[in-house]
Amino acid sequence: MCSGETQEIKSITVKYFVLDNLVNTVRNECYYICLNENCDVVYYNQENQIFKKQDMKIPI
Ligand SMILES: [Zn+2]
Repeated sequence: MCSGETQEIKSITVKYFVLDNLVNTVRNECYYICLNENCDVVYYNQENQIFKKQDMKIPI
């Protein structure tokens, strides 16, 4: 999984950025953002749920 620099993020933020068909899969818990530019992962949580760059509505 992701290592290196990360930042905690609220689920409301994740819901704002992910594609409409994925919004319902976002849980009301803390997510983390991966700040590694070489990584496809954008958001993830402690249960290994992952949202990648292609899952984003808006380019990050
Ligand atoms: Zn990563």
